[in-house]
Parts: sequence; structure tokens; C-alpha cells
Amino acid sequence: MPKINILNDITINKIAAGEVIERPASIIKELVENSIDAGATQISVEISSGGKNLIKIIDNGCGIDKDDVNKAFLRHATSKITQAEDLYALSSLGFRGEALASISACSKMEMITKTEESIIGTRIVLHGGVVSVKEAVAANTGTQIIVRDLFYNIPARRKFLKSNQSETMAITDLMNKLAIGNPHIRFKYINNKKIAFETPGDGELYSTIRMLYGKDIADNLIHIDYKTNFYKISGYTANNNVYRSNRNMQHIFINGRYVKSTNIMNVLNESYKAIIPINKFPIYFINLEMDPATIDVNIHPNKLEVKFNKEAEVLSSLSDYIRGVLLKSSLIGRYREKFTPKKEEIIESKEVLQKNEEVREFDAFSTFTYSKPSEVTEAKEEKPISLGSFKSLEEIEEVKEVKEEVKDTPIINTPSIHEKPKQISFIEEEETAKNSDFKNLKYIGIVFDTYILFQKNEDMVMMDQHAAHERVRFEMYMKQFKSNTISTQMLLDPFLMDLSPTDMMVVSKNLDVFERYGFAIELFGHKNISISGVPNTFGNPESKRFIYEIIDNLHKMDNIYDAKYDDIAEIACKSAIKANDKITDKEALALLRQLEACENPYTCPHGRPVLVKMSKYDIEKMFKRKM
Ligand code: ADP
Ligand code: MG
Repeated sequence: MPKINILNDITINKIAAGEVIERPASIIKELVENSIDAGATQISVEISSGGKNLIKIIDNGCGIDKDDVNKAFLRHATSKITQAEDLYALSSLGFRGEALASISACSKMEMITKTEESIIGTRIVLHGGVVSVKEAVAANTGTQIIVRDLFYNIPARRKFLKSNQSETMAITDLMNKLAIGNPHIRFKYINNKKIAFETPGDGELYSTIRMLYGKDIADNLIHIDYKTNFYKISGYTANNNVYRSNRNMQHIFINGRYVKSTNIMNVLNESYKAIIPINKFPIYFINLEMDPATIDVNIHPNKLEVKFNKEAEVLSSLSDYIRGVLLKSSLIGRYREKFTPKKEEIIESKEVLQKNEEVREFDAFSTFTYSKPSEVTEAKEEKPISLGSFKSLEEIEEVKEVKEEVKDTPIINTPSIHEKPKQISFIEEEETAKNSDFKNLKYIGIVFDTYILFQKNEDMVMMDQHAAHERVRFEMYMKQFKSNTISTQMLLDPFLMDLSPTDMMVVSKNLDVFERYGFAIELFGHKNISISGVPNTFGNPESKRFIYEIIDNLHKMDNIYDAKYDDIAEIACKSAIKANDKITDKEALALLRQLEACENPYTCPHGRPVLVKMSKYDIEKMFKRKM
């Protein structure tokens, strides 16, 4: 039996370094968080070779007193807490007192620091955690840290670092998030001697976003500001004109600290389900403020996952709020010539922006609020028709007559969900809040048997007939579905379902939910449920599949309608007129009016746009009348 040894501090720090320091980005995270905790208003981060050879951080924070400099590099040396109770009232970022000890153990590190009170600064150099130089130097107030040759003394770890490019990408991603989370700090990020970005540090989140991600994103943001008893949320969330193929642009901060909360992300992503295409991810920049005592701080500093009290309440209120916000924003896409940046801009932004980005060809319309009911005014202003317009004057007159007719068309019965008439029914919605986006639309005609054209002041508005009808149908079916109180159909032969222990737990904890959804369920032994009644939806009894759907979605379901969303969307899609279906002018106008009555007229249930507009200016540019 070999003898038991007590490891020395340097070995302990080297082992710990493996936990805290995964890669260059984790060093930068620790050091920048230290600078933020030190009250810095300017932080410069410089790297070369993906941070493997050089990381240099300069801040104008409070600095470290010369008598404390050595202590700072000791394990569990921190100025941020003195006892365990302090943890619960903590508002600073790091507190474990591990970062400097760990980083210095696995690199060649140099620090120059000076406090306001001190006339002269201190320079300390450590190789593998061992102090080799400590001297007085002239310095500005603040701290400068240089980390060279990361893992030079732990070759196994150095080997596991990724390519310079992927390490740089991870750092860039982190820098973006640090900058977004701290708009009051002026960040400068230098990569291989070139400035990748510099943020204004003016305290405005908006200008920071614009600086980092450009006008296209900034122009499509909705401001968010909301407070409940448990939390306050602020920031920006994008409308449906911009989105990404991955989650890179989803920024969630809690009390200013970047976190990865799968639960919060799911709630936010779910709110966009109907308005952006499937498999795309919304963009948001939000900060939640919560009492630090309600947050579980005892998670590992590397793990960005976070836990907090009253999570279910917070999530559900967040979901309601965001959905409301999205509904109130205008969601008509605008056609635009693809943005072609200048050559220098491409080079610079390539380094800054994430991969897999795509610039959509739509951008925001104006913000809209439901305006008071007013007349439908498609045909109010009949300016003389210019050459090249789609219809002659006579034809326009005809259309006008058609419109009068449409207004007088009696209400034809609402089609039941079982029949699938692929024609537009002429339903006049009486108490519709008229939406200003639908005002002054002058009907022009239909192109390609698919797109219905309107002129609105200086814009041409195109409506996709399938998407529009799909939306109309979807909301109609949803309404029917909701107005039918859920009835239970008792079964002659109750059946048993075999459930996994986890599913069993979910069901047993939520028997009341299943009851509300129309199931008659009983627990049967410890792995079976017996079902003696099922809900009737759309006149058909529901199946086992629905039980599984409820089990799987219970955590994010506010109500039974959410669970039925996809089914209803599918029925709506199948029963709607298609592209290339020929419809009459009369039907086109009826469709417009039905769309206007929709709660969300801007996208089909799958999130594709229903309306797209193109400005007169864009058209004139195409004809080179305007440059
Ligand atoms: P922690 O941040 O968990 O306290 P660190 O090892 O990161 O542990 O830092 C140790 C201590 O060194 C901090 O508590 C702080 O007092 C001091 N310190 C580190 N970086 C800075 C900085 N940039 N400016 C001022 N003080 C710093
Ligand atoms: Mg720290």
C-alpha cells in the first residue's frame, strides 16, 4: 500500500485549474467578472491565437492594495464574502476565490495593479503559480492582467484546446454576452491586434446591441419592461422579422449575470412558435432582476444553469407577458433589397458575428397598436391610375362595385370543422378592432393565382392567399375548440396504460389537470393507470397519444389548447385554399376582411408571413428612377 500524501498547494491549484479553467474563454470570463466586481467602467480584452498564447485584460476598477496582492492568488482568497451567510445576499459575480489561484497555476501570469489611494502600483509575475517577481511600478489606477502560454505546464490539457479559430469564436461569443450584459461598461475587444469591437458604454442596451449586431437586428427590437412581485424584466426581444438557426442570439441575464436557463429559453421560444418558422430561434436580450436570496448561487461557476424560487410562477407570468408584447407589435414583413455591406464591414463583422447567421429579406414595419374601430377604407382615395398599373380605370370601378357587394353579403354559416369547403366563407365580423395596418388598402388584383395585391399609400402590400386563409381558419377552429366546453366520453371498456416510473409520477401529481382536460383516470398499481373516460375534441374521442402529449408538455402547457395547437394548425392548413387555387376578387376581399379580424393576422400558424410589403421607393429604385 503506497503511503498517503497530502498534496501541496500548487498541485491542488493545478487540479482545481482543470475545473474552473476549461479553455481561454473561461479565463476571460473570470477575469472580466473580477473587473466588473472591481467597479470598472472600461475593460479592454486582448487575445492572440485564440487566447492560447496571450490574454490581456485591462480595467479601470478599484485595483488591489500592494499588501493584498499575494493573497489574491491564494485559493479561497476573496474580498467578496467572509462567511457562508453572505452567499445569500450576494450580488457580485465571483465569490469562490478560485480564479486567480487556478489561472496562475496553469499559465505564466503577470499582474499590474494600483488602488486610487496608492501612489505607486505593484507588479507581480507568477509561473505555474509560483511568484517569480514582485516589484513596485508606475501604473494607472486599476488592474492589468496578462496570461501567457495557457497550460504550458499541463500538456495534456493544452492538447485538448480546440483550433485557434474555435477558441476565438467561443471568446467572441462570450465578449458579446459580457458587453450586452453590461451596457454601462465600455468594452474594447482586440483580436490579433485588430479591434473587433468597442462598445459605447453609455448605459444604453439598445446602442450596445446595435454596435455589436448591427442595424438589421436593432431595427427589429421590441422594448420590454415589466415588473411583478417576484421579478422585474427589461431589455429587448426581436419581432418576427429576424431570427436565427441556432440559439446564439438568445441572451438571458439574471441580475446582470449571463445564465443559461433552459426553462426560461423554452418559455420564450414557445412564445414565438406561431410567428417564426419552425426550427428557427428568436433573438432576445433580457435581464431578470430578482432578489439574490431567491437564486441558488451554490452552482458551479462554470455551469451557467441557474435555479431560483417560484420558478413555475415566474415562467408562467413571463410567458403571458412576452406573448402579449409580441401580439402588439406589427408583424408585416417588408421587402428590401438584400443588405450588401461594404468590403471592410464584411471583414470586421465576420470576426464579430456568429456563424450560421442569416439576414432575412424582411424588416420591420411600424409599431402598431389596435386602433379604434373605423371604416374599412380600401377604396377611399381613388387617385388616377398611372401607366403600368395592373388594372384599367374601368376595371377598378368594377372592383369597387364588387366591394360594395361584399359588404352586403349576408353571413353564410360558419363551416363546421368536418366539412372542408376550400372556398372562403363570407363572414362579416361585427365587433372587430380594426387594425391600422388594414386601413386604406386599395385592392389591385391577384398575381400567380397566389398573391393578392393591394396598394396602401406609398406601399404595395402582398398577401399570400394560402397563408392568409390558413390563419383565418386556424383562429376560427381554435375559437370553436375553445368554446366547446370539454366533455368526457365514458368508455364501455376502460383501458390500462403501462407508464414509466417518471411518467407515472407526472400523472399522479397532476390528476386534477387530466380531469380538467376531460379524462377520467385512476392510478392502478404503481405503474398503470386505468382510463375510463376520455375528452371529446371536435366530436372525436381522444386517444392514448394525447395522454402522452400532455405528460410530455405539462411543464410548458398553460392549457389544453397549447397541446392541440399543432393538430389545429394542420386542420387549418389542409382546409385552406392553396397557392394556385383560383379565387375571385370578391373572395380575395372577403379574405382580407377575415384576416383583419384575426388576433394575429401577420403570420400563418407555422410562422410564415401572411403579408409582405414593398415600398414605392423600392420599386422606383428597381426601375432606376431613384438611386
Ligand atoms: P473571487 O473573484 O471569487 O473573489 P478571484 O480569485 O477571482 O476570486 O479573485 C480574488 C480576489 O482578488 C478578489 O476577491 C478581489 O479582491 C481581487 N481581484 C481580482 N481581480 C481584481 C481586479 N480586476 N480588480 C480588483 N481586485 C481584483
Ligand atoms: Mg473572481
